[in-house]
Amino acid sequence: MKIGAVARRTIDPTAPDETVHPAAAVRPDDGLDVMREVAAGCRACDLWANATQTVFGEGRPSARLMLVGEQPGDREDLAGHPFVGPAGRILDEALHQAGIDRERVFVTNVVKHFKWRPSGKRRLHERPNPVEIRACRPWLNLELELVRPDVLVLLGATAAQAILGRDFKVSERHGELLPPLEPPGPRLLATYHPSAILRSRTSEERDAALRMLVDDLVVAREAIAA
Ligand code: SF4
Repeated sequence: MKIGAVARRTIDPTAPDETVHPAAAVRPDDGLDVMREVAAGCRACDLWANATQTVFGEGRPSARLMLVGEQPGDREDLAGHPFVGPAGRILDEALHQAGIDRERVFVTNVVKHFKWRPSGKRRLHERPNPVEIRACRPWLNLELELVRPDVLVLLGATAAQAILGRDFKVSERHGELLPPLEPPGPRLLATYHPSAILRSRTSEERDAALRMLVDDLVVAREAIAA
């Protein structure tokens, strides 16, 4: 299907009727470009209003490994691509050390618009709330149906709890390879968000946090190789 056809086929994503989610107009086999185009006009929660643009997932639709973070950050919001800012550089480093080629994975977030509050000239990250995460879930579901990864890596508490429930603790269960929620879905593995490493106070703390992330990613790599 050509880009643009979905939006014309069914609904206007900017329509005031919020009972119809724009993702309902898209089928997984419409492809990534169509999903991205329809999501660009999403108004299913309020986050679009203060963000620059929708930041949809990117990577190989045939990837066996999919990584999900929380939401785009300041740089991602401006660039329109996931994991291209400071946290993205940490993720690149961790993937490299874990022997994973970023070109061969699919990366996305549970929420596709940047949530922030002003602080002087800066835009400070704000955690999305459960309503916003729920509103954005149809987009993540479409990405999952398109990619059908073998392993889904959940980066940080927001992504982990969005998928595994609010009681899930990354600090206690990171690096554990979990069975699919609904077979034949992907196996799951939660780990720390790369931005947690940026908050390290010392280089020792940073090295230890990066090592934990790398070790967890190695578990994911070995799972897809098995
Ligand atoms: S955060 Fe998600 S649900 Fe909310 S407007 Fe953006 S794309 Fe739509």
